[in-house]
Amino acid sequence: MISDALFPLLRCPSCTSTNLVNHADAVLCQDCHVSYPKQSGYIDLMPRGVDYDYVSKYVSEEEQLAEELDYRDLAPPVLAAGVRNKTTVRLLDLNANDVCLDNGCGNGRFAVWNAHLVKTMVGNDPATMFADAAIDSIELTKADSRNLPFADNVFDKAFSLDVLEHFPIDVIDAYLAEQARVLKPGGRFLAMSNTREKSSLQPFVDASRWIGKQFVKAGVYDFEREKLRKSDHIKALETWEEVLAAFERAGLNPVKVVFWNSVFTSFVEHVLMKLGEAWAGRNKQGDKRVKSAAISDGTDREIRARRRLRGQLDRKGGLYYVLNGITWMMELDLRLFGSLHSGSYFIVVEKPRQ
Ligand SMILES: [Zn+2]
Repeated sequence: MISDALFPLLRCPSCTSTNLVNHADAVLCQDCHVSYPKQSGYIDLMPRGVDYDYVSKYVSEEEQLAEELDYRDLAPPVLAAGVRNKTTVRLLDLNANDVCLDNGCGNGRFAVWNAHLVKTMVGNDPATMFADAAIDSIELTKADSRNLPFADNVFDKAFSLDVLEHFPIDVIDAYLAEQARVLKPGGRFLAMSNTREKSSLQPFVDASRWIGKQFVKAGVYDFEREKLRKSDHIKALETWEEVLAAFERAGLNPVKVVFWNSVFTSFVEHVLMKLGEAWAGRNKQGDKRVKSAAISDGTDREIRARRRLRGQLDRKGGLYYVLNGITWMMELDLRLFGSLHSGSYFIVVEKPRQ
């Protein structure tokens, strides 16, 4: 959505002026005279006259991925997304006075799930694969995170889930510098991402992977969609030291860190959930393929499973409680092993108050 709460936060991404005028169908910069059109539910604030040489796959293959990831409908926050969501809320301590940015919001699910906790929730992404609920309930901008269309010092909180691993180093530096600029002094930013480092509990993870492989060999399920989702992971920050150095370059000070050693999580993701999906997505008589395009049987099955399960989740039936229980089990990884160094991490950093 585009409401009055959004305009005071904006600045022109082309010339950095905050001298913007809000018209019915566009936001106009009084200084460089660029006009930023309002689309259905968001403002297109891509900078004019800038040619970026790096574009994430999420942008360039937007349509294909959109179909595959089935982004328009939101399920409740359960499983891996539920763990991300709960941990973000817990570590960032979102409250009713916060103006909060989801920096790289994707379809906007995390912003939607937490919009009721804060004063203003803004989602920004260069790809406009926004869920219907995001268009209904959060402020949305289409912009490049290297050139955020927001004034200095306007956000109390911000978060970035599964974003950094997509960027090369120069983009990460630009992204964090911009994130730091738009945070208020004392404002906090949470990033969840992963390095290439292995957990010391890796043997447990490998055991789950091995079990998963046996089911793949037996043709029960596959990991095509996961592969697709991870297909543009660069992981330019290869080690934890490189993560800390990147935040230091941006002038952001670490205040909290939780690692995600996926002992329970990997069992859920490689075995339990996949078995559930295979069962829920099985072909019933008269089923058509979800999409006729060239997607794998596994992907087809998963989309079908997700649609069926989503219907049940929305009614908050037994399945909802089962999945919440599994989510709780996955969260144990953070509560039990959160201080143990591993590749996946949540970090909260603060902009100095001075
Ligand atoms: Zn301008």
